[in-house]
Amino acid sequence: MSNLQTVNGSVDADELGVILTHEHVRFRDEAVAAEWPDRYDEQEELDSALAAVREAKSRGVQTIVDPTAMFGGRDVRFMKSVADQTGVHILACTGIYSYDHLPNYFANRDVDVMAEHFVADLQRGIQGTDIRAAFLKCAADAPGVTDNVEKIHRAVARASVQTGAPIMAHSMPAVATGPRQVEIFEQEGVDLARVQIAHCGDTDDVEYIERLIDMGVYVGLDRYGLEMFLPIETRNATAAELLRRGHTERVLISQDYCATIDWFPPEAAAVFESQGAIRNWSMTLVFDEVVPALREQGVMDDEAFRTIFVENPKRWLTA
Ligand SMILES: [Zn+2]
Repeated sequence: MSNLQTVNGSVDADELGVILTHEHVRFRDEAVAAEWPDRYDEQEELDSALAAVREAKSRGVQTIVDPTAMFGGRDVRFMKSVADQTGVHILACTGIYSYDHLPNYFANRDVDVMAEHFVADLQRGIQGTDIRAAFLKCAADAPGVTDNVEKIHRAVARASVQTGAPIMAHSMPAVATGPRQVEIFEQEGVDLARVQIAHCGDTDDVEYIERLIDMGVYVGLDRYGLEMFLPIETRNATAAELLRRGHTERVLISQDYCATIDWFPPEAAAVFESQGAIRNWSMTLVFDEVVPALREQGVMDDEAFRTIFVENPKRWLTA
């Protein structure tokens, strides 16, 4: 059986169990965190991460795929602390989370040099540790697939071709980035069965999502609780329709929850909640509300649950 790299080393893919494919144990602007570390309470961050992951574990989750890349404050030592103290497997990534900006370091080096950095994370270790990345991450958002975003995608693609590592690509359905992202991967020779287009659940345009599935990729319905993009009920209706149309084997469900995130001042969370921009956002929402709703609609039985939360992520991760 194939093995996968977790932050605690190699694990047999069959031992991953129930998997959440898109959650962040911590998310922060890494430049700010590096320059003003006193603005952050690392113990508080760790406590929040432990609480969130333990809640998920109490719902049966055995593995969390954490796509925190460069610019999201990736810190594999922090991830390892969370894995050590919860007993939940955590998979780390390599890549760059940028909607356009590239640091001069990479702006002045070519795609292959960038890819070589990702390959080093996949094969040798991350941030001076021997913790290896399990997958690659890139992003396209409101600005679309800009030149810099394309460069990152091509570097991610080449690292995938060289190593066989899977890819998760943050997308923005509102500006239809997905098809162009898949096209770039295809041009670079990536096995599209190893590609996950994240955040497809931010649209209720089933045909748009279906076009991506038809290209051979996985689609992430992975932002449950982020009502500012789409409310839970609409997300469920979209998920139900995809399952009805027979796409169970291409769907991944998650929450894109951040146990802590520094993008907003601390008081913002309560405002977002009271204004309805987020609702019950957590690492357990999909088990507490989404799965029961899909069961009630008759589109999810035990087998479909296993396909979506065990088999699909395992297949995406290991081919
Ligand atoms: Zn995310």
